[in-house]
Amino acid sequence: MITLHQAGYHGIALPDYGIGLDGSNDSTSCVFTSHAHADHIPRTNGQQVYATPATSRLMSLRGYQEPITETEYYQPVETDRARITFYPAGHILGSAMIFVETDEGDLLYSGDCRTPPSPASEGFDYPENIDYLIVEATFGLPIYRWDSHEVLFDQIRKFASDTLNQDATPVFFCYNLGKAQEVMHALAPLQQRVQIHGAGYPLCSVYDEFDINLGNYEAYNRETVKGSILITPSNTRDSGMLNHIKPVKTAYVSGWAAVESRRTQLNVDQLIPLSDHLDFFELIEWCKKLHPRHVYITHTPNSDVVMHYLSQEGISSSGLFSSM
Ligand SMILES: [Zn+2]
Ligand SMILES: [Zn+2]
Repeated sequence: MITLHQAGYHGIALPDYGIGLDGSNDSTSCVFTSHAHADHIPRTNGQQVYATPATSRLMSLRGYQEPITETEYYQPVETDRARITFYPAGHILGSAMIFVETDEGDLLYSGDCRTPPSPASEGFDYPENIDYLIVEATFGLPIYRWDSHEVLFDQIRKFASDTLNQDATPVFFCYNLGKAQEVMHALAPLQQRVQIHGAGYPLCSVYDEFDINLGNYEAYNRETVKGSILITPSNTRDSGMLNHIKPVKTAYVSGWAAVESRRTQLNVDQLIPLSDHLDFFELIEWCKKLHPRHVYITHTPNSDVVMHYLSQEGISSSGLFSSM
């Protein structure tokens, strides 16, 4: 059994190996970062930090100031007692699962992951023969089952085209890193002008650099936004950003859009449940395929349902750190 400690907000430490996963504490000398979403960026102070090149660039653009050792997928890092390798996680550009090989067994930390992978990511891949799996279960309830990317991308394009044909401005509410660029990638074949919120705009350059087609885009401009497609986080609506663009039609793009009550909560015209996390069934299927000795479940309000389904498959599991 490999000892696991909580490290920081969402992070995990392997104290016997000096390794931090998305977090650090006094025991960690090397910290591996799965991706550039804020809750996974570690607070570090002089430790050696590793990330994929895309994640490293996104972290820097989001204000992370410590040095980062850029490490490609499949390029192992050797420490005195372990070997650590990044595998593509399919969640957002640069996202990685972290594979740690030790004398006590081999552990895979999923970070946030998605299979089938986001078409705006490097794909999804993992090593054979895993002893321990630490997996996120953000959508770990059987009410969550996603449609295919083809179906959801068609919905995105249809919503945009229909709205533009009605001489209205289509607005997609989505998170600034990952979901925004995935929606832009889905919209690219329409060859329409897209504007993206100022906080998301600089992050798009990293997608360009890694050859993900984001189409014809520019930063949000109050004077010229009318008639283009707008991509912005849902909380920007409160700032009155949309007040001068009329008429508009709004769509909320998120795994949480699977919950119908969000339509009235957010007052949007359409819900598009495009997620960059595993749905419940994808999670169980993947665990069955891997069949590790033990599964640790994180990022979930309640791990009991996942544990129940895994036990029916003969897979032992537990929630990791009840506070997570
Ligand atoms: Zn994430
Ligand atoms: Zn996360």
